[in-house]
Amino acid sequence: MNFRIGQGYDIHKLAYGKRLVLGGVEIPFDMGCIAHSDGDTLCHAITDALLGAGGLGDIGKHFPDTDESLAGVSSLVIMAEAFAEVKKHLWRINNIDATIILERPKLAEYIPNMCEKIAGVLHISPDIINIKAKTAETLGAVGDGVAVEAHAVVLLVR
Ligand code: MG
Repeated sequence: MNFRIGQGYDIHKLAYGKRLVLGGVEIPFDMGCIAHSDGDTLCHAITDALLGAGGLGDIGKHFPDTDESLAGVSSLVIMAEAFAEVKKHLWRINNIDATIILERPKLAEYIPNMCEKIAGVLHISPDIINIKAKTAETLGAVGDGVAVEAHAVVLLVR
């Protein structure tokens, strides 16, 4: 068997009056991401991990933020399109592991739904997706509550 690992990272600035969408799930909160797309930091990190594992560059190469057709687009769609490119090379996903770092709100109750949404668009089992959430312990921009970060690792197999 042939394996490839990929790593992804993303950060978005938070502002009042914006939607907070993570893993395709809209989270009720008074702040959300400033972004060209829906600002789904988790999906962006997973997208970069998929493209990285596939040796296909990064999200900015495939989905530039200068592309007006991507304004406000669901990042689930971006992630699914990235995986479609990866699949052309006959890779399938062995597993995805990701971490969201956000000071508040607490995300635990939304994580099962995030796994379902991501699994749905990638046509994989939610059992091979693991999403963790933590705070930045009040440190840095994330700790100040003005940013959200996500890290992801994907293992591809063929
Ligand atoms: Mg992003």
